[in-house]
Amino acid sequence: MKKASLAVLLVFSAVCLAPAARWVKGNTHTHTRNSDGNEMPRRVMRWYLDHNYQFLVISDHDLVTDVTYLDSDKNDDFILISGLEITRSMDKLRVHVNALNPKRPVAEAVVGKTVAETLQNAVDAARAAGAVPHVNHPHWRWSITADDMKDLRGLRLFELLNVNRDSNNFAAGGRPGTEELWDALLTKGMVLYGIASDDTHDYLGDFLPDLSYPGKGWVMVRVNELTPDAVCTALDQGDFYASTGVELTEVQVTEKGYALTIKPLRDTAYTTRFIGRNGVVLKEEYSLTPSYPFRGDELYVRAKVFASNGELAFCQPVFIKK
Ligand SMILES: [Zn+2]
Ligand SMILES: [Zn+2]
Repeated sequence: MKKASLAVLLVFSAVCLAPAARWVKGNTHTHTRNSDGNEMPRRVMRWYLDHNYQFLVISDHDLVTDVTYLDSDKNDDFILISGLEITRSMDKLRVHVNALNPKRPVAEAVVGKTVAETLQNAVDAARAAGAVPHVNHPHWRWSITADDMKDLRGLRLFELLNVNRDSNNFAAGGRPGTEELWDALLTKGMVLYGIASDDTHDYLGDFLPDLSYPGKGWVMVRVNELTPDAVCTALDQGDFYASTGVELTEVQVTEKGYALTIKPLRDTAYTTRFIGRNGVVLKEEYSLTPSYPFRGDELYVRAKVFASNGELAFCQPVFIKK
């Protein structure tokens, strides 16, 4: 493999970042009393603001909550982003697609003859409104398969980890997890980035396992400025990682390879896997600064960090062509 012939597609744009870039923490999937959440939008915002998030997308079912009057403090290093969850049912299956930061009203997404068609209609409706779409909880009710997603146009994001109890994120019982779904699509050449989200509904009382309470899954997005456009563009370009607790201080992709820096938590131990085509583990490392040099024939490389306390971080795939 000649080094000079290796070209990394800048789907992960780490190499061209201005020095002012920083990580901001956010949740892209949140309900309020405007749909089936149990708290008012202002109190929902308050929870995330008080828990050191920098942004929150309010995404009620088929309804955009006006965030301009809620997010009035310009100096609190926190922004609300408008959005909605396009919510369609096909018999027992659920096709839900978030539309982040729409510029115009989102037109009704028609239910199609197939799940794939309904998904495409929802993605198209989001894009037509200037919004960034993400496909939600694909394995809730086992609604969405790799076949349903493989030909979607205009989609870059899906919920790899919707942390609610029924989301079936992990492979079991002979069924694939969302990570297997992801690798199946990436192996087909689909450029797709994985989000973690709370899909929050419950803010009151004890945070019991059956409730969808806040603070369990989030994204860390790299931006130069904290604005809805900057956050949503960075998400759509894959300049973020998904986390349920693992913190990374650096995610670096160059033409030569992929490198991370893990911020350790007390005596927690970490394993990082660099993963490629068909979900094959290309390299496994235990250090706090794991790295992987590209060979050039991987198709794509992504990184997964798992910690001895069960927490995870997923870094986005970088597509490589010879
Ligand atoms: Zn949903
Ligand atoms: Zn939801």
